[in-house]
Amino acid sequence: MVSMDTLVSLCKRRGFVFQSSEIYGGTGSCWDYGPLGVELKNNIKRVWWRDFVQRRPDMVGIDASILMHPMVWRASGHLDHFSDPMVDCRECKLRFRADQVDALPWTHFCPATKGNRFTIPAGEPCGHCGARRTLCPDCGKGELTPPRQFNLMFKTFMGPVEEDAAVTYLRPETAQAMFVNFENVLQSMRLKLPFGIAQAGRSFRNEITPGNFIFRTREFEQMEIEYFVNPHDRVEGRPADEYWHDRWIEDCLAWFRRYGLRDENLRLREHDRDELSHYSKRTVDIDYRFPIGWSELMGIANRTDFDLKQHAKASGKSLTYFDEERKEHVVPYVVEPAAGLDRALLAFLADAYLEEEVRGEKRVVLRFHPELAPVKAAVLPLLKKRDDIVRTAHAIRDELSRFWRVVYDDTAAIGRLYRRQDEVGTPYCVTVDVQTVGDTDKGERADDKVTIRDRDSMEQIRVGVPRLTAVFGELLAGKRWADVAAGAAAG
Ligand SMILES: [Zn+2]
Ligand SMILES: [Zn+2]
Repeated sequence: MVSMDTLVSLCKRRGFVFQSSEIYGGTGSCWDYGPLGVELKNNIKRVWWRDFVQRRPDMVGIDASILMHPMVWRASGHLDHFSDPMVDCRECKLRFRADQVDALPWTHFCPATKGNRFTIPAGEPCGHCGARRTLCPDCGKGELTPPRQFNLMFKTFMGPVEEDAAVTYLRPETAQAMFVNFENVLQSMRLKLPFGIAQAGRSFRNEITPGNFIFRTREFEQMEIEYFVNPHDRVEGRPADEYWHDRWIEDCLAWFRRYGLRDENLRLREHDRDELSHYSKRTVDIDYRFPIGWSELMGIANRTDFDLKQHAKASGKSLTYFDEERKEHVVPYVVEPAAGLDRALLAFLADAYLEEEVRGEKRVVLRFHPELAPVKAAVLPLLKKRDDIVRTAHAIRDELSRFWRVVYDDTAAIGRLYRRQDEVGTPYCVTVDVQTVGDTDKGERADDKVTIRDRDSMEQIRVGVPRLTAVFGELLAGKRWADVAAGAAAG
């Protein structure tokens, strides 16, 4: 498994992820996606949207405002419950999560050794005097305040006056917009249960202990679905909500597998009873083996009718569905598959990373699924002194870039250019050489063919320039390299 340090360094060096505001020393746990990172992120989001919204007759999407009515957060429970218990050091003012402070190594000035300073492993007593930690684990001097609840929502003011009535919040999740728009979507789209509403967008949480690169950040992007079902329906002999919950778990797991995450790095984790939110009937996480260990990649919760009922109560509006068959109004149950886009990107990146030895040299390659790869192809001239070769290479890039992100590069020798593209996961390179354009001095005619090199097998095939768009259409739509190669050899 690749280390986080290796990924962070590759991401910066090759333009995937930069620290936010780096020239000013960086912003705590904020990250900027660079030229390749934004392509990768957009590709993940687009493929997710295509597979879960575009291709399904039972799904629609929305894109809601990040600033919502403050009552939304009252009704959803975020104002009262979305908080962590915090303690502060009265000396150094550092703040810790009360439930995590014992999990830190602690600083101790030991009275039994003339006040010498020790750093003692988490949870252990001092080996000299037997004392246990009571003071600040960091400075070892200050007393900690009693725990206080610290709300994780970012607070701000709507309008020019900074007064209590103008307080609003940056949304801590995208989900609530689907609940408050339930009636609008239902009526405007004339939907029948079961159906789902999807949204991909930014959320904000003032995490006390963010970290681990883009795994936990204060500003992040979510891809969430609220899938509404009739709780009175039965599917395959089971309550509809339970049936659809299992279906979504399978579908989400299959989706991550399809785009490259390996089985051995994925597992399902069932939430224990005492871990479940009070409204959740059942929650299952898809965990991924990140470089920091097994951690949540996404969660799929059966939230019952809690959210719609809460918003109906707080708004005074009816948020129900008319069941034609039973002639009654029902409050749908909702299954919520909620994924973090930044986390998904980190998982795809970690799983794609491979170091191997090729002819005595180290090769670093990101084996991205072609649909996720930031750049689909690089067009490389074998000789950059030959105008006709360079011109042909540019023309090929121009044509292919009508459909895909394709780059031109002539800043190094060909072997080096291949390695560079391998390292950012470009699935194919196209090389334009002397045979492509011919050599009039030697009386050699142009064959109007180029070499396509496959990133993973490093095999090469020769393909006619007029067929390139069609060949890439097949390759990038998932046709196997071996089959395309066989076709190229035949014709
Ligand atoms: Zn302190
Ligand atoms: Zn001691």
